[in-house]
Amino acid sequence: MKALMLHAIGDLRLEQVPMPQPRESEALIRVAAAGICGSDLPRIYEHGTYRFPLIPGHELAGTIAEINGSSDLHPGQAVAIKPLIACGECAYCRSGNLGQCVDYDYLGSRRDGGFAEYVCAPLDNLVPVPEGVPLIEATLCEPAAVALHALHQGDIRPGDVVAILGTGPIGMLLAQWSWYCGASQVILADIDQAKLELAESLTLGITVNSRTSDPIAAVRAASHGQRGADLVIEAAGAAITVAQAIEMARPLGTVVLMGNPSGDVALSQALVSQILRKQLTLRGTWNSNFGALPVDEWQLVLDAAARRRICLGPMISHAVPLEQGPETLEMMHQRREFYTRVVLTNP
Ligand SMILES: [Zn+2]
Ligand SMILES: [Zn+2]
Repeated sequence: MKALMLHAIGDLRLEQVPMPQPRESEALIRVAAAGICGSDLPRIYEHGTYRFPLIPGHELAGTIAEINGSSDLHPGQAVAIKPLIACGECAYCRSGNLGQCVDYDYLGSRRDGGFAEYVCAPLDNLVPVPEGVPLIEATLCEPAAVALHALHQGDIRPGDVVAILGTGPIGMLLAQWSWYCGASQVILADIDQAKLELAESLTLGITVNSRTSDPIAAVRAASHGQRGADLVIEAAGAAITVAQAIEMARPLGTVVLMGNPSGDVALSQALVSQILRKQLTLRGTWNSNFGALPVDEWQLVLDAAARRRICLGPMISHAVPLEQGPETLEMMHQRREFYTRVVLTNP
C-alpha cells in the first residue's frame, strides 16, 4: 500500500510499504480520509515521534476491510477511529478515564497511523459513522470531541456567555458546541483576520481581532451587565491569551486552558490576585473522553453531525490526495496558504 513514512525529523516520504495485518481483536480499515492535526506539524518537523520510521496520522475515518475477532461491526462499515489505545488495566482505565491511561499506545505517534491507504486499529476503537455524515467530515470527530470535552471540563451551562481565544478549527468547533449547549452569547477572538472572517461567515458569534481591538472590553460589552464571560476557553496557547482569559472571566467564572503553550507562561502578581479575588476556577483539558460514560463524546459528535446540529464540512479548507501529502504538509509548515482544516484523501 501507499503510505507517508516519517524516517526522521523533517524526512517524510511517500512509499510503498507492506499491508498491515490486524492482530487479534483488531480490524484492518481502508482509510478514506485522514485529517492533519496541529500536533502533526511539530511531530514531523520539530520534535519527531516515539520511533522511526513511523506512519503519522491519527484523525481518521474509513471503511472496515477485515475483522480479526468477534464484533458487531462488519466489513464495509464506515467508521471513525479513536486514536488512543488504552491499556485497559491501570487504575485510570478501570475507573473509565481512558484518556489518563498510564500505559497507552497511540495511532500516528507511538504506532503506525493513517497517512496511508490502510491502518489497523482495535475493534474497541471503532465508532460507526451514521448515514449522512461523509467520511471526510468524520475525520473531524477527534477535534470535535476534543472541543466538546473542553466545554464539559468547563461545566458549560445554558445561558453562559462563552469567550473563545483562538479561532482555528478547534475554536470554531468550540463555538458550535457552545451554541449546542445553550450559550447565550459566544465571542471569538484571534489575531488572524481570515480566520475571523470565516467564523463570521458561519455566524459562529461575535468576532474580535485582538490585534486591532481589546478582546477583554469586547467580552465585557457582550456580557450581561458588563461582568465578563461565564466561561473562557483559552485555545491559542500563548502567554498573552492566558492573561486575557483570566481578565475577561467574570467573578466566580471558569477558565479552561486548552491551547498547548508555545513557551513559558508567567502570571503577573495582578493576574494571580484576580484569580483569587474573582475566585476563578482554572481547569485543564486534554484529549477527549474515550469511554462510554459519563457521555461518549465521539458518539455525540457523530449524532450531532448526522442531525445537522453541528456542521463539520465548512471547517475543511483543503482536501488533497494522500500522494500530495509531503508538499501539503510542507505548505502548512511554511504557512504558504491560508488553511483551516486540511485532509488527505484516498479517493
Ligand atoms: Zn489531533
Ligand atoms: Zn490504562
